[in-house]
Amino acid sequence: MSRFMHPRYAPLDAYVPGEQPRDKKYIKLNTNESPYPPPPAVCQAVTRQAIDDLRLYPDPDALPLKKALAELYGVEAENVFLTNGSDDILNFAFMAFGEKGVAFADITYGFYKVIASLNCLPAQVIPLKEDFSLDYTDYLGLNKLIAIANPNAPTGMPIPLWQVEEILKSNPDSVVLIDEAYVDFGGDSAVELTKKYENLLVVMTFSKSRSMAGARLGFAIGSAEIIADLEKLKYSTNPYNIDRLTQICGLAAVENNDYFIDCCRKIQTTRERTAAALKGLGFTVLPSKTNFLFVSCPGKTGEQLYTGLRQRGILVRYFSGERTGNFIRVTIGSDSEMDAFLAAIKDILN
Ligand code: PMP
Repeated sequence: MSRFMHPRYAPLDAYVPGEQPRDKKYIKLNTNESPYPPPPAVCQAVTRQAIDDLRLYPDPDALPLKKALAELYGVEAENVFLTNGSDDILNFAFMAFGEKGVAFADITYGFYKVIASLNCLPAQVIPLKEDFSLDYTDYLGLNKLIAIANPNAPTGMPIPLWQVEEILKSNPDSVVLIDEAYVDFGGDSAVELTKKYENLLVVMTFSKSRSMAGARLGFAIGSAEIIADLEKLKYSTNPYNIDRLTQICGLAAVENNDYFIDCCRKIQTTRERTAAALKGLGFTVLPSKTNFLFVSCPGKTGEQLYTGLRQRGILVRYFSGERTGNFIRVTIGSDSEMDAFLAAIKDILN
């Protein structure tokens, strides 16, 4: 840290994104991207005119995209907030609603801890149960911002909507943020509950189920009041945070929703096949409703599995730490990628 930086950032441990290798071509099962490209309509949307129009600023409201998402999710445009990836929303939400502190699980998306620290918010870290499930009663009556990834990452495990509702009811004066980055792979979305609970913010992304991690597009759905609060922060930092091409591609993606539903189905089928094969090899596989599996193998650490797979041209993610050190998180790729992954695992076990 230079002597010029504000000392409040001294304790900040920045988030470490999954590795983006440059040394050779790997099968990338480490950052929960989709193995399938966006639909052809997204490609067709990037016309010569769209490129020429890059000379102009984008619409800061991204209104056509907002309206399309509102229609898809059965809400109004005033209930939708759009940003440059959903990480941005998480940061805005922590800035806006974290005054009394923020609570999240010990094993969850690592970014929550970073943005709590970035915004100097006291963090209450609540351990998951021994089996990695989340005990919703730990979140009742906390009276502070609550952030829950549902389904959770890196475990892949969901909590049912009635538990989300109990948490909402018992924290009426603070915002409950439900991060649904992976909900399209078999989870139940809390979007309908936003009509009933003004303290609910549901956060989603185009990065996983919609195959557009590279476009950086995230959105949130909530009551008009909390969406307006988030807009205020966006307009106070970077109003043009979604570029023209991303807005056009995002709209084409929403208009081709069936394509994504189909991709999600394929990924779920591949996930179940991979989970069964790993169990057959003696692995522990947590029940996943996401596009990844959190797995461990007796006698091997997560790091050993990661290293063995890397040597065989396959990237996965491992997490150091007492409870997670024996696990790897494996993104579900195409069928042929998962065949290669399973062959590499068998090779390592032999
Ligand atoms: N939430 C969770 C649980 C995630 O795993 C991720 C992806 N790392 C994000 C949010 C952020 O996704 P993005 O910024 O690509 O929308």
